Amino acid sequence: MAKELFAIFGNPVSHSKSPLMHNLSFQGLGYDACYARYQLLDGKQLKNTFFSLGLKGINITVPHKEHAYNACDELDPFAQKVGAVNTIVEKEGKLYGYNTDAPGFLKAISEFQNIKTVLFLGAGGTAQSTSSILRDEGYKVTLLNRSEGRLERYKNDEFETYTFDDFIAKKYDLVINMTSAGLEDDSLPAPKEILDSVIPQAKACVDVIYGKETPFLKLAKLHNKPTKDGSDMLLYQGIIAFEYFTDHKFKFDEIEPYMKKAFIL
Ligand code: NDP
Repeated sequence: MAKELFAIFGNPVSHSKSPLMHNLSFQGLGYDACYARYQLLDGKQLKNTFFSLGLKGINITVPHKEHAYNACDELDPFAQKVGAVNTIVEKEGKLYGYNTDAPGFLKAISEFQNIKTVLFLGAGGTAQSTSSILRDEGYKVTLLNRSEGRLERYKNDEFETYTFDDFIAKKYDLVINMTSAGLEDDSLPAPKEILDSVIPQAKACVDVIYGKETPFLKLAKLHNKPTKDGSDMLLYQGIIAFEYFTDHKFKFDEIEPYMKKAFIL
């Protein structure tokens, strides 16, 4: 059988850990495949590019998850519901789309016990899929966003939503930074007064940003809260994508030790 080719599509992609994560797993499990990175400038070219490169599967990162959704011939029911695809697999000339960010996130927060209420700081694309899966699992999710615009679709889906201006602090078991605040700057995802009113009542604080301690997580530590960054979410979404790429030939626990090596190299 010819070697299968996989890639990550995004813009930028130079920073992505996905090639290392997947190549270490292919190698470790003896699966004859290779994973590259591709900077896709125009999301509308996703399907053409996929076929012209002769790929078997891709992951899709910012800013093309909606384009990926539109490029698929068949959608997994959850990806269909949330409108965002981060994993595509080709089968007999058709593109099948999945969302592995949300189940990856769900698994990443499963270590925190007795969590019922969750406050999301941010309402972008990642919040969209993760809020949906959390609600399906019985969590009550409230969203607090800097500006009104992105909250509209959550309001229509009957989530409780606030901006900084009308927020009323309550007790939330988990407070999660779903924004890009702190990724390339030193900003907090919400005004400090708001964070100082919700963090002390929380059981733990989580950030989806990985590879650095954000100002949000630093503040949570000052309040002596358990914290977690986005590394496990990245790892778990990758393992679930790998399961799709290899048509479930390997179990989650078999893949994990190889993919995990990408985080210690
Ligand atoms: P989007 O661009 O879709 O949304 C960005 C969100 O952040 C918006 O709600 C925006 O608010 C808010 N925001 C941006 N800057 C600030 C700021 N300075 N202060 C307050 N709010 C701000 O981004 P995504 O949802 O795609 O990504 C969000 C984060 O998730 C990123 O940091 C990304 O790296 C991370 N991520 C991590 C993954 C992992 O595996 N660990 C997987 C996927 C994403 P507004 O509406 O007002 O503009």
